[in-house]
Amino acid sequence: MKNRRLIYGFTLISLTLSILLNYLFPFLGLWMLFLMPLFGVIVLFPTWLVGNLCIVILVFVRYLTQYAAFSGNIPNDYLYRLVSTSIVGWLILLTMTFFIIKNKRLVEELEYHSLTDNLTQAFNRRYLEQYYEKFLTESSRQKQTLSIMLFDIDHFKKINDQFGHNAGDLVLQRLAAEIKELIRKRDVFVRMGGEEFALFLPNTDLNQADSMAERIRHQVQEVKLDHHGAAISFTISIGITIFKVDTLEQLIERADQALYQAKASGRNKVVVLNGDLCERRLRGEVTLAASRGEP
Ligand code: GH3
Ligand code: MG
Ligand code: MG
Repeated sequence: MKNRRLIYGFTLISLTLSILLNYLFPFLGLWMLFLMPLFGVIVLFPTWLVGNLCIVILVFVRYLTQYAAFSGNIPNDYLYRLVSTSIVGWLILLTMTFFIIKNKRLVEELEYHSLTDNLTQAFNRRYLEQYYEKFLTESSRQKQTLSIMLFDIDHFKKINDQFGHNAGDLVLQRLAAEIKELIRKRDVFVRMGGEEFALFLPNTDLNQADSMAERIRHQVQEVKLDHHGAAISFTISIGITIFKVDTLEQLIERADQALYQAKASGRNKVVVLNGDLCERRLRGEVTLAASRGEP
């Protein structure tokens, strides 16, 4: 954003300078100065359409000013120079556009790789930290609900041991694909590390998160992954909690407690921990069932 403002500033200043200098010293070569603000425009809006449109507008304005300067009767040699320099300008601008677009794609690709996990294409922790910081800023202005689910594959080590590490990787990829299929666009799916994933669900209360988790758990337990003729099945345990003005670490820790309980109560389970109830349960004031909202 700061960078964009800088480029807007550069574009405006160089445009003003180009107009001023061309007005004060109307030499034919000076119009090339306009390539500077056009460079700024293409950096701000890097598409071929904008690149070509820039040169068409520039040539059109140049032609009109020369037409006016020669009262509608531009001498032939002047016209030839106008056309040839316009073609040179167009080629320079096309080259600029090519490299700016290439550069933009490279930056996007690097950004994507720095924020996602290679194996599962889920977001990574770095992305999560950025997302959560933005969420905290927004929720300080306007109250927002955010539920979080923590997933862990049950007995994943056994899958690796029995079918090999590659099969384990396929299971991780399949799990990620299954979850991605069931979530909404605004939900944020993160690989926390190893065989542990998290799902951040904005505008979702604990009941909605619970039923979504049950849907995911059911769908995952139905999967039969074909690996060299063997059908690999697997299950997941899920811990859920809700945002209560926590730091990211506190929120994850509470979801982890829920996940731990899901594991301890037999795996392939969903456990929900309400923030307040969770603290009371840890103090021994309420039972696990009560902390899950069960009678
Ligand atoms: P639990 O039900 O208690 O979660 O048992 P578990 O076996 O799933 O958990 P444990 O923490 O004992 O083992 C996790 C295993 O996950 C150990 C590690 O080798 C494996 N693992 C971690 N990352 C990867 C990965 O990227 N690919 C594969 N194939 N295995 C991984
Ligand atoms: Mg596990
Ligand atoms: Mg684990």
